[in-house]
Amino acid sequence: MSKRQKRTLFYGINLLILGWVTISLGTLLTESKIVIAKEVQQKKVTTYSSWLGASFPVENFQGYTSAFGYRHSATGGSKWEFHGGLDIAAPQGSYIRNWWAGTVIKVGDRNACGTHIVIKSGEWEHTYCHMQGSVETAQGHRYLIDRAGGIQIWEGQTIPTGFRIGRVGMTGRTTGPHLHWGLKYANNYVDPALVLREMFSQQQIARGASRFNSQQSQVTIQESNTRDSGY
Ligand SMILES: [Zn+2]
Repeated sequence: MSKRQKRTLFYGINLLILGWVTISLGTLLTESKIVIAKEVQQKKVTTYSSWLGASFPVENFQGYTSAFGYRHSATGGSKWEFHGGLDIAAPQGSYIRNWWAGTVIKVGDRNACGTHIVIKSGEWEHTYCHMQGSVETAQGHRYLIDRAGGIQIWEGQTIPTGFRIGRVGMTGRTTGPHLHWGLKYANNYVDPALVLREMFSQQQIARGASRFNSQQSQVTIQESNTRDSGY
């Protein structure tokens, strides 16, 4: 092989790898991102977050089935709707884990989100939808109960990182078992896929380093009063 042929081959392989990485990272996101840019203002915020100890929100991960952002209605029709979270497929009954230590600010079971829980960790708010079980009240206090899964979570309860908070189900508006995971920072929507990517890279760096220096993270927030019409 001539030098030139070798060089061409080298670039060709690199392009292939780059293309593959781009596709695997952006498959679901590309289309919706373009639309978002047109419809709402985006802003970068520095959160000074370290997600070193953060937990992936579901066990038995199967794949991402619907990205964050504008999409065609998930249950048919030609309407566009804002999808305020990331859909993560996992088999029915898989345990859902708390992403980051915080306080339960809401449990509910009456809307499209199904049986759900909202946890607040500083400026971050994380929502978990379509869980198994239901919400009950005892002495004026609300709690999420999934008896078969051994889950009981009270409003106001403090939950550690990685704690099992429920199981994947099909409550609310859904066509298959998955976790709808929503994230907000200071009341603005954040694309959970970006946070997961940042989290994985931090954890990867930390594994290779003997000492961890707290680092800044940048995330893109949705600066809008977009109504969350889709789960
Ligand atoms: Zn969803």
